[in-house]
Amino acid sequence: MVSGNITKLDLTDQAFAVRRANFTDEISFYAPGLKRYCTTEFEQKSPRAFLPISLTGNACVLQCDHCESKILEPMFAIDQREGLFPLCERLANSGTEGILLSGGSNRVGAVPLHKHFADMKRVKQELGLRVMVHCGLVSEETCAALKEAEVDAVMLDIIGANETIRDVYHLDATIEDFDRSLELLQKYEHSVRPHIILGLHYGKMLGEDKALEMIAKYPVHALVLVVLTPMAGTNMQNVAPPDVAELAAFFQKSRLRMPDTPIMVGCARPLGEHRAQLDRLAVDCGLNGIAYPAEGVVEYARAKGLRPGFIENSCSCGC
Ligand code: SF4
Repeated sequence: MVSGNITKLDLTDQAFAVRRANFTDEISFYAPGLKRYCTTEFEQKSPRAFLPISLTGNACVLQCDHCESKILEPMFAIDQREGLFPLCERLANSGTEGILLSGGSNRVGAVPLHKHFADMKRVKQELGLRVMVHCGLVSEETCAALKEAEVDAVMLDIIGANETIRDVYHLDATIEDFDRSLELLQKYEHSVRPHIILGLHYGKMLGEDKALEMIAKYPVHALVLVVLTPMAGTNMQNVAPPDVAELAAFFQKSRLRMPDTPIMVGCARPLGEHRAQLDRLAVDCGLNGIAYPAEGVVEYARAKGLRPGFIENSCSCGC
């Protein structure tokens, strides 16, 4: 492992050199079936290969200022009377290979998973689907049950500022609770893919450095970086995301701080010129994968000597 002891290069070059030293030349581009996607470089061929399911429909107690549960609306909702398995069976019969289990949070910041552990295990064993779970804050019992259910991976947003937990998430918790969840998931040897939402505090970078430090203590499978993308109709709809220079600085810092952990740019980030610039900077900073890449980024990566791989049956944290 090489960890950034290269002094004559600027930080972006250092970050790219660290990537070169610790990984193969492959860079992964993802287009899961969360939305339709097509560029001249990468056309999604199986939009049903990987699909999101909400275990709570559109319901969420927290009503975070950037989301107000709108992220749940396009997901498949389970029928509460029939449970998870029948929906998964129908999806598997129509070509789905993997699912993201998500849902709104309860008042303690957890996605209510407890009624579905037995079905998760059946989905793995009988349907052979890849199962990724967005869990939120977890208890020891939840970690053990997810292990018993044989899920493939778990993910949660890590927040590194108590003000953000309180003001944006309306949650009576602290950064120690998020750290504890990481610790418990690690204890039960889950494949953990934590997310950091850059600019979550009303467009400002506040707890991101702390979140990175919290995550770097654990041997997580991958780190996923997403960017605040306030949804229309929410309290934050007019908030601007951080500018690309600020985000690129965080990409560099992440690459250098976690030199041999795969780092992905996840689905949520602004569109247009912001995305076009940011995706190139992600390549420059040595990140390992990008979901729904902007037009031209695949060729840009090739020109830097990287080998593109294209993945549709998983999300950007599914390496
Ligand atoms: S907990 Fe999740 S679904 Fe609920 S409002 Fe917050 S981000 Fe949206």
